Amino acid sequence: MTSGTTPDVAAAGSALSTVEAYQAAILSAITPLAPTSLELAAAEGCVLAEDVTAAVALPSFDNSSMDGYAVQAADVAGAAEDSPATLRVTGEIAAGDIGAHRVAPGTAMRIMTGARLPAGADAVVPVEWTDDDDARVAIYRRAERGNAVRYAGGDAAEGETLLTAGTRMRPMQIAVAASAGRKAVTVRPRPRVVVLSTGDELTEPGTPLVPGRIWDSNSYMIAAAAREAGAVASRRAGVPDDPEGVLPALEEQLAHADLLITTGGVSMGGEHDVVKAALGKLGTVTFRKVAMQPGMPQGFGVLGKGGEGGKGLVPIFTLPGNPVSAYVSFQMFVRPALAALQGASDLSLPLVRATLTGPVRSPSGRRSYLRGVLDGTKVTPLSGQGSHQIAYLGRANALIIVPEWETQLPANDTVDVLILP
Ligand code: AMP
Ligand code: MG
Repeated sequence: MTSGTTPDVAAAGSALSTVEAYQAAILSAITPLAPTSLELAAAEGCVLAEDVTAAVALPSFDNSSMDGYAVQAADVAGAAEDSPATLRVTGEIAAGDIGAHRVAPGTAMRIMTGARLPAGADAVVPVEWTDDDDARVAIYRRAERGNAVRYAGGDAAEGETLLTAGTRMRPMQIAVAASAGRKAVTVRPRPRVVVLSTGDELTEPGTPLVPGRIWDSNSYMIAAAAREAGAVASRRAGVPDDPEGVLPALEEQLAHADLLITTGGVSMGGEHDVVKAALGKLGTVTFRKVAMQPGMPQGFGVLGKGGEGGKGLVPIFTLPGNPVSAYVSFQMFVRPALAALQGASDLSLPLVRATLTGPVRSPSGRRSYLRGVLDGTKVTPLSGQGSHQIAYLGRANALIIVPEWETQLPANDTVDVLILP
Protein backbone atom coordinates (compact mmCIF):
# COMPACT_ATOMS: atom_id res chain seq x y z
CA MET A 1 0.00 0.00 0.00
CA THR A 2 2.90 2.36 0.56
CA SER A 3 6.15 2.58 -1.31
CA GLY A 4 9.56 2.95 0.24
CA THR A 5 8.83 0.58 3.09
CA THR A 6 9.90 -2.94 3.84
CA PRO A 7 6.97 -5.02 5.05
CA ASP A 8 8.70 -7.12 7.64
CA VAL A 9 11.06 -4.61 9.16
CA ALA A 10 8.86 -3.85 12.11
CA ALA A 11 7.79 -7.41 12.69
CA ALA A 12 11.31 -8.70 13.00
CA GLY A 13 12.07 -9.39 16.63
CA SER A 14 8.92 -7.77 17.97
CA ALA A 15 5.34 -8.65 18.71
CA LEU A 16 4.03 -6.03 16.32
CA SER A 17 2.34 -6.83 13.00
CA THR A 18 3.34 -4.75 10.03
CA VAL A 19 0.62 -2.68 8.41
CA GLU A 20 0.86 -4.86 5.29
CA ALA A 21 0.67 -8.16 7.17
CA TYR A 22 -2.38 -6.96 9.05
CA GLN A 23 -4.04 -5.72 5.85
CA ALA A 24 -3.37 -9.07 4.19
CA ALA A 25 -4.84 -10.98 7.13
CA ILE A 26 -7.99 -8.86 6.91
CA LEU A 27 -8.38 -9.24 3.16
CA SER A 28 -7.99 -13.02 3.33
CA ALA A 29 -11.09 -13.11 5.54
CA ILE A 30 -13.31 -10.93 3.32
CA THR A 31 -15.45 -12.28 0.48
CA PRO A 32 -17.21 -9.93 -1.94
CA LEU A 33 -20.94 -9.45 -1.43
CA ALA A 34 -23.19 -11.52 -3.72
CA PRO A 35 -24.22 -9.68 -6.91
CA THR A 36 -27.78 -8.50 -7.24
CA SER A 37 -29.82 -6.78 -9.92
CA LEU A 38 -30.65 -3.18 -9.11
CA GLU A 39 -32.54 -0.60 -11.12
CA LEU A 40 -30.36 2.23 -12.36
CA ALA A 41 -31.28 4.76 -9.68
CA ALA A 42 -30.52 2.25 -6.93
CA ALA A 43 -27.36 1.03 -8.66
CA GLU A 44 -25.82 4.47 -8.53
CA GLY A 45 -22.49 4.30 -6.72
CA CYS A 46 -22.39 0.49 -6.77
CA VAL A 47 -19.77 -1.62 -8.52
CA LEU A 48 -20.83 -3.55 -11.62
CA ALA A 49 -20.67 -7.32 -11.43
CA GLU A 50 -21.34 -7.81 -15.16
CA ASP A 51 -20.26 -6.31 -18.45
CA VAL A 52 -22.78 -3.97 -20.06
CA THR A 53 -22.96 -4.20 -23.84
CA ALA A 54 -24.65 -2.02 -26.41
CA ALA A 55 -28.06 -3.51 -27.28
CA VAL A 56 -28.08 -1.34 -30.39
CA ALA A 57 -25.45 0.75 -32.12
CA LEU A 58 -24.94 4.19 -30.55
CA PRO A 59 -26.37 6.25 -32.10
CA SER A 60 -28.75 3.72 -33.59
CA PHE A 61 -29.61 5.86 -36.65
CA ASP A 62 -27.94 8.61 -38.69
CA ASN A 63 -29.07 11.96 -37.30
CA SER A 64 -28.39 15.65 -37.36
CA SER A 65 -26.01 17.29 -34.88
CA MET A 66 -27.42 20.76 -35.55
CA ASP A 67 -30.60 22.64 -36.35
CA GLY A 68 -30.52 23.34 -40.08
CA TYR A 69 -31.44 21.85 -43.44
CA ALA A 70 -30.93 18.29 -44.62
CA VAL A 71 -29.62 18.44 -48.18
CA GLN A 72 -27.77 16.55 -50.86
CA ALA A 73 -24.20 17.85 -50.58
CA ALA A 74 -23.92 17.98 -54.38
CA ASP A 75 -26.68 20.64 -54.44
CA VAL A 76 -24.68 23.05 -52.27
CA ALA A 77 -21.21 22.30 -53.66
CA GLY A 78 -21.07 25.72 -55.35
CA ALA A 79 -22.76 27.73 -52.61
CA ALA A 80 -20.96 30.90 -51.54
CA GLU A 81 -21.75 34.24 -49.88
CA ASP A 82 -22.18 36.00 -53.27
CA SER A 83 -23.75 33.04 -55.10
CA PRO A 84 -26.05 31.14 -52.70
CA ALA A 85 -27.64 27.82 -53.60
CA THR A 86 -31.42 27.98 -53.40
CA LEU A 87 -33.39 24.85 -52.52
CA ARG A 88 -37.10 24.22 -52.16
CA VAL A 89 -38.00 23.31 -48.56
CA THR A 90 -40.39 20.34 -48.51
CA GLY A 91 -41.00 19.99 -44.77
CA GLU A 92 -39.59 19.72 -41.31
CA ILE A 93 -38.23 16.82 -39.25
CA ALA A 94 -38.14 17.17 -35.46
CA ALA A 95 -36.28 14.93 -33.01
CA GLY A 96 -38.41 11.85 -32.42
CA ASP A 97 -40.16 12.04 -35.82
CA ILE A 98 -40.33 8.46 -37.08
CA GLY A 99 -41.96 9.26 -40.44
CA ALA A 100 -40.39 8.22 -43.74
CA HIS A 101 -38.90 11.36 -45.25
CA ARG A 102 -36.88 11.84 -48.41
CA VAL A 103 -34.79 14.66 -49.82
CA ALA A 104 -34.75 14.70 -53.60
CA PRO A 105 -32.17 16.61 -55.66
CA GLY A 106 -32.84 20.35 -55.57
CA THR A 107 -34.79 20.17 -52.30
CA ALA A 108 -34.08 20.45 -48.59
CA MET A 109 -35.88 19.65 -45.35
CA ARG A 110 -35.66 21.61 -42.15
CA ILE A 111 -34.12 19.31 -39.56
CA MET A 112 -33.62 19.60 -35.80
CA THR A 113 -30.76 18.35 -33.65
CA GLY A 114 -31.17 14.63 -32.99
CA ALA A 115 -33.72 14.16 -35.79
CA ARG A 116 -33.24 11.21 -38.10
CA LEU A 117 -31.52 12.08 -41.37
CA PRO A 118 -34.04 11.66 -44.21
CA ALA A 119 -33.34 9.25 -47.06
CA GLY A 120 -31.47 10.89 -49.89
CA ALA A 121 -29.82 13.53 -47.70
CA ASP A 122 -26.12 13.23 -46.99
CA ALA A 123 -25.34 16.52 -45.23
CA VAL A 124 -26.88 19.08 -42.91
CA VAL A 125 -26.43 22.81 -43.50
CA PRO A 126 -26.54 24.68 -40.17
CA VAL A 127 -29.28 27.29 -40.02
CA GLU A 128 -26.59 29.95 -39.48
CA TRP A 129 -25.35 29.42 -43.05
CA THR A 130 -28.79 30.14 -44.53
CA ASP A 131 -31.51 32.80 -44.69
CA ASP A 132 -33.70 30.53 -42.49
CA ASP A 133 -36.56 30.50 -45.05
CA ASP A 134 -39.43 27.99 -44.80
CA ALA A 135 -40.25 27.85 -48.49
CA ARG A 136 -37.07 28.44 -50.52
CA VAL A 137 -33.91 28.48 -48.48
CA ALA A 138 -30.80 30.37 -49.63
CA ILE A 139 -27.59 28.63 -48.57
CA TYR A 140 -24.41 30.74 -48.41
CA ARG A 141 -21.74 28.13 -47.74
CA ARG A 142 -20.93 24.73 -49.15
CA ALA A 143 -21.42 21.76 -46.84
CA GLU A 144 -19.28 18.65 -47.29
CA ARG A 145 -20.88 15.23 -47.39
CA GLY A 146 -21.44 14.17 -43.77
CA ASN A 147 -21.44 17.74 -42.49
CA ALA A 148 -23.28 17.92 -39.11
CA VAL A 149 -24.31 14.27 -39.46
CA ARG A 150 -23.87 11.86 -36.54
CA TYR A 151 -23.61 8.43 -38.12
CA ALA A 152 -25.10 5.27 -36.61
CA GLY A 153 -22.44 3.43 -34.60
CA GLY A 154 -20.21 6.51 -34.41
CA ASP A 155 -20.14 6.21 -30.60
CA ALA A 156 -20.30 2.42 -30.21
CA ALA A 157 -21.06 -0.59 -32.38
CA GLU A 158 -23.96 -2.92 -31.61
CA GLY A 159 -22.77 -5.55 -29.11
CA GLU A 160 -19.72 -3.54 -28.09
CA THR A 161 -18.75 -3.74 -24.40
CA LEU A 162 -19.52 -0.35 -22.90
CA LEU A 163 -18.85 -1.00 -19.20
CA THR A 164 -16.85 -3.80 -17.65
CA ALA A 165 -17.43 -5.65 -14.39
CA GLY A 166 -15.64 -3.87 -11.55
CA THR A 167 -16.59 -0.41 -12.78
CA ARG A 168 -18.31 1.86 -10.29
CA MET A 169 -21.64 3.24 -11.48
CA ARG A 170 -20.91 6.94 -11.34
CA PRO A 171 -23.20 9.39 -13.14
CA MET A 172 -21.42 8.86 -16.47
CA GLN A 173 -21.76 5.10 -16.25
CA ILE A 174 -25.42 5.37 -15.25
CA ALA A 175 -25.91 7.34 -18.47
CA VAL A 176 -24.09 4.70 -20.50
CA ALA A 177 -26.27 1.90 -19.10
CA ALA A 178 -29.43 3.93 -19.72
CA SER A 179 -28.26 4.74 -23.27
CA ALA A 180 -27.78 1.02 -23.80
CA GLY A 181 -31.42 0.52 -22.85
CA ARG A 182 -30.76 -1.06 -19.48
CA LYS A 183 -33.38 -0.63 -16.76
CA ALA A 184 -31.33 -2.59 -14.23
CA VAL A 185 -27.75 -3.77 -13.89
CA THR A 186 -26.08 -6.51 -11.86
CA VAL A 187 -23.96 -4.95 -9.16
CA ARG A 188 -22.52 -5.75 -5.80
CA PRO A 189 -24.71 -3.92 -3.30
CA ARG A 190 -23.34 -1.22 -1.04
CA PRO A 191 -22.04 -2.89 2.12
CA ARG A 192 -24.25 -2.21 5.14
CA VAL A 193 -22.04 -0.93 7.91
CA VAL A 194 -23.06 -0.40 11.52
CA VAL A 195 -20.77 1.71 13.69
CA LEU A 196 -20.95 1.35 17.48
CA SER A 197 -19.10 3.78 19.68
CA THR A 198 -18.34 2.61 23.21
CA GLY A 199 -17.53 4.60 26.30
CA ASP A 200 -19.27 5.83 29.44
CA GLU A 201 -17.89 9.29 28.69
CA LEU A 202 -19.80 9.65 25.43
CA THR A 203 -22.57 12.21 25.13
CA GLU A 204 -24.70 12.77 22.06
CA PRO A 205 -23.84 16.01 20.23
CA GLY A 206 -26.68 18.48 20.64
CA THR A 207 -27.17 17.59 24.28
CA PRO A 208 -25.47 19.43 27.19
CA LEU A 209 -22.01 18.36 28.30
CA VAL A 210 -21.05 17.87 31.92
CA PRO A 211 -17.39 17.97 32.98
CA GLY A 212 -15.76 14.58 32.49
CA ARG A 213 -17.85 13.75 29.44
CA ILE A 214 -17.19 14.35 25.72
CA TRP A 215 -19.39 14.51 22.68
CA ASP A 216 -19.21 11.36 20.57
CA SER A 217 -17.45 12.17 17.33
CA ASN A 218 -16.21 8.74 16.30
CA SER A 219 -19.54 7.19 15.38
CA TYR A 220 -20.41 10.12 13.10
CA MET A 221 -16.93 10.23 11.60
CA ILE A 222 -16.60 6.53 10.90
CA ALA A 223 -20.13 6.23 9.51
CA ALA A 224 -19.37 9.16 7.20
CA ALA A 225 -16.06 7.63 6.16
CA ALA A 226 -17.81 4.34 5.41
CA ARG A 227 -20.35 6.12 3.21
CA GLU A 228 -17.56 7.92 1.40
CA ALA A 229 -16.09 4.48 0.71
CA GLY A 230 -19.31 3.23 -0.89
CA ALA A 231 -21.18 1.81 2.10
CA VAL A 232 -24.55 2.55 3.62
CA ALA A 233 -23.80 3.21 7.24
CA SER A 234 -25.74 3.70 10.43
CA ARG A 235 -24.57 4.39 13.95
CA ARG A 236 -25.41 2.97 17.35
CA ALA A 237 -23.87 5.53 19.62
CA GLY A 238 -22.64 5.49 23.16
CA VAL A 239 -22.62 1.82 24.09
CA PRO A 240 -21.80 1.92 27.83
CA ASP A 241 -18.61 0.43 29.24
CA ASP A 242 -20.53 -2.53 30.61
CA PRO A 243 -18.89 -5.91 29.99
CA GLU A 244 -22.31 -7.60 29.95
CA GLY A 245 -23.85 -5.12 27.55
CA VAL A 246 -21.36 -4.96 24.70
CA LEU A 247 -21.92 -8.34 23.12
CA PRO A 248 -25.74 -8.09 23.09
CA ALA A 249 -25.44 -4.58 21.58
CA LEU A 250 -23.27 -6.01 18.80
CA GLU A 251 -25.40 -9.11 18.25
CA GLU A 252 -28.46 -6.92 17.87
CA GLN A 253 -26.85 -5.39 14.77
CA LEU A 254 -25.77 -8.62 13.09
CA ALA A 255 -28.94 -9.03 11.06
CA HIS A 256 -28.60 -5.56 9.51
CA ALA A 257 -24.89 -5.50 8.83
CA ASP A 258 -22.34 -6.74 6.32
CA LEU A 259 -19.63 -5.22 8.47
CA LEU A 260 -19.47 -4.01 12.06
CA ILE A 261 -17.15 -1.37 13.43
CA THR A 262 -16.68 -0.49 17.08
CA THR A 263 -14.60 2.33 18.47
CA GLY A 264 -13.03 2.47 21.90
CA GLY A 265 -12.53 -0.13 24.56
CA VAL A 266 -9.56 -1.94 23.05
CA SER A 267 -6.63 -0.36 24.85
CA MET A 268 -3.93 -2.46 26.34
CA GLY A 269 -5.01 -2.82 29.91
CA GLY A 270 -7.93 -2.10 32.02
CA GLU A 271 -11.22 -3.71 32.84
CA HIS A 272 -12.88 -0.76 31.12
CA ASP A 273 -11.70 -2.11 27.78
CA VAL A 274 -15.00 -3.83 27.38
CA VAL A 275 -14.88 -4.50 23.64
CA LYS A 276 -11.70 -6.45 24.02
CA ALA A 277 -13.05 -8.25 27.08
CA ALA A 278 -16.34 -9.20 25.42
CA LEU A 279 -14.96 -10.23 22.02
CA GLY A 280 -11.69 -11.72 23.24
CA LYS A 281 -13.65 -14.56 24.85
CA LEU A 282 -15.33 -15.57 21.59
CA GLY A 283 -12.11 -16.63 19.93
CA THR A 284 -13.13 -15.34 16.51
CA VAL A 285 -11.77 -11.82 16.98
CA THR A 286 -8.04 -11.29 17.23
CA PHE A 287 -6.45 -8.33 18.94
CA ARG A 288 -3.04 -7.21 17.80
CA LYS A 289 -0.58 -4.41 17.98
CA VAL A 290 0.25 -2.99 14.59
CA ALA A 291 3.56 -1.21 14.00
CA MET A 292 2.03 2.17 13.30
CA GLN A 293 1.20 5.44 14.93
CA PRO A 294 -1.54 6.36 15.49
CA GLY A 295 -3.60 3.19 15.65
CA MET A 296 -1.43 0.57 17.33
CA PRO A 297 -4.15 -1.49 19.09
CA GLN A 298 -6.32 -3.19 16.47
CA GLY A 299 -8.87 -5.94 16.48
CA PHE A 300 -10.46 -7.83 13.62
CA GLY A 301 -12.47 -10.99 13.25
CA VAL A 302 -15.97 -12.27 12.64
CA LEU A 303 -19.12 -12.32 14.65
CA GLY A 304 -22.28 -14.38 14.26
CA LYS A 305 -23.62 -17.89 14.05
CA GLY A 306 -21.91 -18.87 10.85
CA GLY A 307 -24.13 -21.17 8.83
CA GLU A 308 -23.05 -23.03 5.72
CA GLY A 309 -19.83 -21.78 4.14
CA GLY A 310 -19.41 -19.06 6.72
CA LYS A 311 -22.71 -17.44 5.74
CA GLY A 312 -24.01 -15.25 8.54
CA LEU A 313 -20.55 -14.38 9.77
CA VAL A 314 -20.07 -10.64 9.85
CA PRO A 315 -16.58 -9.13 9.80
CA ILE A 316 -15.94 -6.82 12.72
CA PHE A 317 -13.29 -4.16 13.23
CA THR A 318 -12.60 -2.84 16.71
CA LEU A 319 -10.96 0.53 16.20
CA PRO A 320 -9.14 2.45 18.90
CA GLY A 321 -11.13 5.15 20.69
CA ASN A 322 -8.92 8.14 20.07
CA PRO A 323 -10.54 9.87 17.11
CA VAL A 324 -7.38 10.34 15.04
CA SER A 325 -6.40 6.71 15.65
CA ALA A 326 -9.88 5.57 14.67
CA TYR A 327 -9.78 7.64 11.50
CA VAL A 328 -6.34 6.50 10.37
CA SER A 329 -7.21 2.89 11.23
CA PHE A 330 -10.37 3.16 9.16
CA GLN A 331 -8.48 4.40 6.11
CA MET A 332 -5.72 1.82 6.40
CA PHE A 333 -7.76 -1.27 7.26
CA VAL A 334 -11.52 -0.83 6.95
CA ARG A 335 -11.35 0.97 3.61
CA PRO A 336 -9.60 -1.95 1.84
CA ALA A 337 -12.12 -4.33 3.41
CA LEU A 338 -15.03 -2.25 2.10
CA ALA A 339 -13.37 -2.24 -1.32
CA ALA A 340 -13.13 -6.04 -1.21
CA LEU A 341 -16.79 -6.41 -0.20
CA GLN A 342 -17.73 -4.29 -3.21
CA GLY A 343 -15.29 -5.92 -5.62
CA ALA A 344 -13.96 -2.40 -6.13
CA SER A 345 -10.52 -1.35 -7.29
CA ASP A 346 -11.04 2.40 -7.08
CA LEU A 347 -10.79 2.97 -3.35
CA SER A 348 -7.02 3.07 -2.78
CA LEU A 349 -5.97 6.44 -1.46
CA PRO A 350 -3.76 8.26 -3.97
CA LEU A 351 -0.09 8.11 -2.96
CA VAL A 352 2.18 10.97 -4.02
CA ARG A 353 5.68 12.15 -3.27
CA ALA A 354 6.04 15.56 -1.66
CA THR A 355 8.66 17.76 0.00
CA LEU A 356 8.39 18.38 3.74
CA THR A 357 8.20 22.06 4.67
CA GLY A 358 9.27 21.25 8.23
CA PRO A 359 10.87 18.44 10.25
CA VAL A 360 8.93 15.44 11.57
CA ARG A 361 9.49 12.84 14.27
CA SER A 362 8.36 9.25 14.51
CA PRO A 363 8.77 6.42 17.03
CA SER A 364 11.36 3.82 16.11
CA GLY A 365 9.95 0.60 14.68
CA ARG A 366 6.56 2.09 13.90
CA ARG A 367 5.27 3.71 10.75
CA SER A 368 3.81 7.13 11.37
CA TYR A 369 0.85 8.55 9.51
CA LEU A 370 1.21 12.22 10.36
CA ARG A 371 -1.51 14.69 9.60
CA GLY A 372 -0.42 17.23 7.03
CA VAL A 373 -1.55 19.79 4.50
CA LEU A 374 -0.54 18.95 0.96
CA ASP A 375 -0.25 21.89 -1.41
CA GLY A 376 1.03 20.90 -4.83
CA THR A 377 4.36 19.16 -4.25
CA LYS A 378 4.88 20.52 -0.72
CA VAL A 379 3.47 19.03 2.45
CA THR A 380 3.30 20.81 5.79
CA PRO A 381 3.13 18.64 8.91
CA LEU A 382 0.55 19.99 11.33
CA SER A 383 1.88 20.93 14.76
CA GLY A 384 -0.75 18.94 16.67
CA GLN A 385 -0.04 15.24 16.13
CA GLY A 386 -1.77 13.87 19.23
CA SER A 387 -4.21 11.02 18.65
CA HIS A 388 -6.92 13.00 20.41
CA GLN A 389 -6.37 16.15 18.35
CA ILE A 390 -9.46 16.10 16.22
CA ALA A 391 -9.23 19.84 15.52
CA TYR A 392 -5.90 19.28 13.77
CA LEU A 393 -7.32 16.28 11.91
CA GLY A 394 -9.96 18.66 10.61
CA ARG A 395 -7.24 20.82 9.03
CA ALA A 396 -5.46 17.93 7.33
CA ASN A 397 -5.92 16.80 3.75
CA ALA A 398 -3.15 14.22 3.73
CA LEU A 399 -1.20 11.70 5.77
CA ILE A 400 2.58 11.95 5.71
CA ILE A 401 4.19 8.51 5.93
CA VAL A 402 7.34 8.17 7.99
CA PRO A 403 8.82 4.68 7.57
CA GLU A 404 9.43 2.34 10.51
CA TRP A 405 13.20 2.80 10.38
CA GLU A 406 13.17 6.60 10.56
CA THR A 407 12.85 8.51 13.82
CA GLN A 408 13.09 11.96 12.32
CA LEU A 409 13.16 13.59 8.93
CA PRO A 410 14.39 17.11 8.23
CA ALA A 411 12.63 19.79 6.23
CA ASN A 412 13.07 19.40 2.46
CA ASP A 413 13.17 15.61 2.65
CA THR A 414 10.89 13.87 0.17
CA VAL A 415 8.18 11.69 1.69
CA ASP A 416 5.27 9.49 0.65
CA VAL A 417 1.94 11.17 1.22
CA LEU A 418 -1.54 9.66 1.14
CA ILE A 419 -4.21 12.02 -0.08
CA LEU A 420 -7.30 11.86 2.12
CA PRO A 421 -10.71 11.55 0.52
P1 AMP B 1 -10.58 4.04 24.64
O1 AMP B 1 -10.00 3.41 23.43
O2 AMP B 1 -11.97 3.62 24.90
O3 AMP B 1 -9.69 3.85 25.83
O4 AMP B 1 -10.61 5.60 24.37
C1 AMP B 1 -9.42 6.30 24.09
C2 AMP B 1 -9.72 7.78 24.04
O5 AMP B 1 -10.61 8.06 22.98
C3 AMP B 1 -10.37 8.34 25.27
O6 AMP B 1 -9.84 9.63 25.50
C4 AMP B 1 -11.82 8.41 24.90
O7 AMP B 1 -12.53 9.37 25.62
C5 AMP B 1 -11.74 8.77 23.44
N1 AMP B 1 -12.92 8.33 22.73
C6 AMP B 1 -13.42 7.07 22.78
N2 AMP B 1 -14.56 6.97 22.04
C7 AMP B 1 -14.76 8.19 21.50
C8 AMP B 1 -15.77 8.71 20.65
N3 AMP B 1 -16.76 7.95 20.20
N4 AMP B 1 -15.68 10.02 20.26
C9 AMP B 1 -14.66 10.77 20.71
N5 AMP B 1 -13.69 10.32 21.52
C10 AMP B 1 -13.73 9.06 21.94
MG1 MG C 1 -13.35 3.68 26.30
